[in-house]
Amino acid sequence: MLYNKLGKTNLEVSRLGFGTMRLPTKDSNDNIVEDEASKMLEYGIENGINIIDTAYPYHSATLDGSGNSETFVGKFLKENSYREEILLSTKSPSWAIEEKQDFDFYLDEQLKKLQTDYIDIYLLHSLTVPDWENVQNLDVLDFLDDCLSSGRVKHVGFSSHIEVDYLIEILDEYPKWEVVMTQMNYLDEYYQSGVMGLDYLKEVNVGSVIMEPLRGGRLVQNIPPEIRELWDSAEVKRTPVEWAMQYLWNRDDVDCVFSGMTSLEQVKQNVEIASTEDIISENDQELIREVARTYRTFLGNSCTRCGYCMPCPHGVDIINCLTEYNIAHMMQNPKASAMQYFSLIDDDSRADSCVDCKECIPYCTQMLDIPAELQKVYEYFGSEFDHF
Ligand code: SF4
Ligand code: SF4
Repeated sequence: MLYNKLGKTNLEVSRLGFGTMRLPTKDSNDNIVEDEASKMLEYGIENGINIIDTAYPYHSATLDGSGNSETFVGKFLKENSYREEILLSTKSPSWAIEEKQDFDFYLDEQLKKLQTDYIDIYLLHSLTVPDWENVQNLDVLDFLDDCLSSGRVKHVGFSSHIEVDYLIEILDEYPKWEVVMTQMNYLDEYYQSGVMGLDYLKEVNVGSVIMEPLRGGRLVQNIPPEIRELWDSAEVKRTPVEWAMQYLWNRDDVDCVFSGMTSLEQVKQNVEIASTEDIISENDQELIREVARTYRTFLGNSCTRCGYCMPCPHGVDIINCLTEYNIAHMMQNPKASAMQYFSLIDDDSRADSCVDCKECIPYCTQMLDIPAELQKVYEYFGSEFDHF
């Protein structure tokens, strides 16, 4: 296993982190197959992984209820006496905070589920701009100060899918942020905070951890023939997983990559890749860019996320509605995109809130019939999350 320093925390972290949102399950998302999941975690830890990431809602029966991932991880660490050997990262459900005492309520519950009296890295989960405003009004920074001074939490940070300007704004609000989790893979350099966000994290020495390195598995499953042909043309042969992971580990602004693994075979494969120094040449970088360009030709519409059509007078989040629809087509994975669509976009900002007033149409730089495109988005995702 190879290790990196995690920004200003000075922690040495394995460059592969164990994400626990896609553990093996039987019949339903909340029913973790514990024997199998235990073997996976044990193999990972015994082969050098020293950081495990979970969150309050992972493996819950609903989209954001209390999940069984934390419960399972806590039990596993306790029964196998691994707690002191690993760095435990989990997340506060920031969207669920309604009053000040909720911060402590969730943290206390999480400590109980995880069977520990401290969390190494505590992140505000999936911060959106409204959630950030809400928790700020509820004195979240006082809560974080208290977590740190009481020792209940060793390092604080946040995970987010926001754009780079908001990421920087939040980072600049609090000098004690030490870790930020953002989405990155070779398709997402300019999606959400992307490469510019990573650049800023490096500048301010905040540890960067990456989520969705394989785009929920879509960079490695059902690979279109056009993409396969490109990979086959490479001088150095790599598997699609190796391309995706080594792309990230060749970046000097990436400290750790969390991979949500589902089988022992995946853990073995990822551990082996994470233990191998593999320099991506300039030619290989160009090939990766070509693969990304080719994936983009499979998009559902030609929205470039320029933002000229915003704000919609009726509150529709046009950009993200069209983006999630595009991603679903590009990656042929409706479930993953539906999770993003329903969790990141507020109820009254989704495609079904469009009233077809057509006010946005003249502003579209790509001459899209935006309400017609939103209708397609609505027909595709529906009005409630039922994609499990
Ligand atoms: S057509 Fe729909 S998206 Fe466009 S401005 Fe009107 S309500 Fe908003
Ligand atoms: S103006 Fe058109 S291309 Fe730009 S974000 Fe809006 S829909 Fe997309």
